[in-house]
Amino acid sequence: EPEPIKLSDLAKAHSGHGPHDGPHRKANATFVILVRNSELKDIIESLKQLEDRFNRQFHYPYVFLNEQPFSDEFKRWTSEIISAPAYYGLIPPEHWYQPSHIDESRAAHFRQLLVDEDIIYGGSVSYRNMCRFNSGFFYRHPLMQQFQYYWRVEPGVKFFCDIDFDPFLYMQDHNKTYAFTISMYEYERTISSLWAVTQAFMKQHPEYLPEDNAMEFISDDEGKTYNLCHFWSNFEIADMSLWRGEAYSKYFEFLDTAGGFYYERWGDAPVHTLGAALFSRKDQIHFFREIGYRHDPFQHCPQGDLHRLGKCWCEEKDNFDHEGYSCTYRYERMFS
Ligand code: GDP
Ligand code: MN
Repeated sequence: EPEPIKLSDLAKAHSGHGPHDGPHRKANATFVILVRNSELKDIIESLKQLEDRFNRQFHYPYVFLNEQPFSDEFKRWTSEIISAPAYYGLIPPEHWYQPSHIDESRAAHFRQLLVDEDIIYGGSVSYRNMCRFNSGFFYRHPLMQQFQYYWRVEPGVKFFCDIDFDPFLYMQDHNKTYAFTISMYEYERTISSLWAVTQAFMKQHPEYLPEDNAMEFISDDEGKTYNLCHFWSNFEIADMSLWRGEAYSKYFEFLDTAGGFYYERWGDAPVHTLGAALFSRKDQIHFFREIGYRHDPFQHCPQGDLHRLGKCWCEEKDNFDHEGYSCTYRYERMFS
């Protein structure tokens, strides 16, 4: 991949000459956290680590989103533990609940099939609301309008290493649109028709695909079939211009009309991945190798010099990058 972060730059950052040393630039960026009141303790754990490893030096704001009002306790503790402004937003019902064009009996029938097959969240409507919201709505929330870049954070995740550089500025300076730390395969049953619908969209709008897109990451046969690879979207740093742009906006609308968020169980991870891979150039997709990250049950642990410079507390050998179920080798292969 062109222009990974230089070790010498990281070393310099770790030497104490950080962003405090002089006037410094910031990106127009925010953390975004979709979370329930009941997950307060788990989001506090994520926030504390994020602050200690990164944000106490950078002070990027937080946007908390919920389809229900945040409790006073939630607002008090989360704003207490961070070093930046926090905004608490209510999600408009039309961005969250199952839309009226969905045939509920057809949706219910498929939910039962997935329950019988023991597919995780197979019977859950709220999980489907969440996936649709993360796919097509979070970046349209009024509180998000002022920002260009976001970093998605979930309850109960871990950040293993010091992050003494600014990932948002890295994205901006290198014209990246989407960044990940972990990739894997999706359950075929949850997205059975997603590729066919995507192909229909591409046929209608071939002009939206740049020449050097990342099709190789998502297909092993030049687009005939989807290989189920996706970036694990519980961690994402991305440029919302990608989602707000014409190509992805039309794509999301097309998917939403097809109804697979409810007739199947389309996840925001494959949807974002297909959007990023098809509507960006491959060199605009970035793997943050230096960010040690865990969302149960998988983790990315930086290796070698990156592990040392980041003072990481994960075990180097506990690393998903090249496990059998990871797709990251396909990402790396695109640049070799
Ligand atoms: P998983 O990572 O796929 O197992 O799904 P999670 O349960 O972690 O949900 C993904 C994200 O959406 C997390 O940040 C959750 O806090 C959030 N989330 C999931 N369901 C809901 C919901 O019904 N309401 C709200 N406000 N947040 C939700
Ligand atoms: Mn999660």
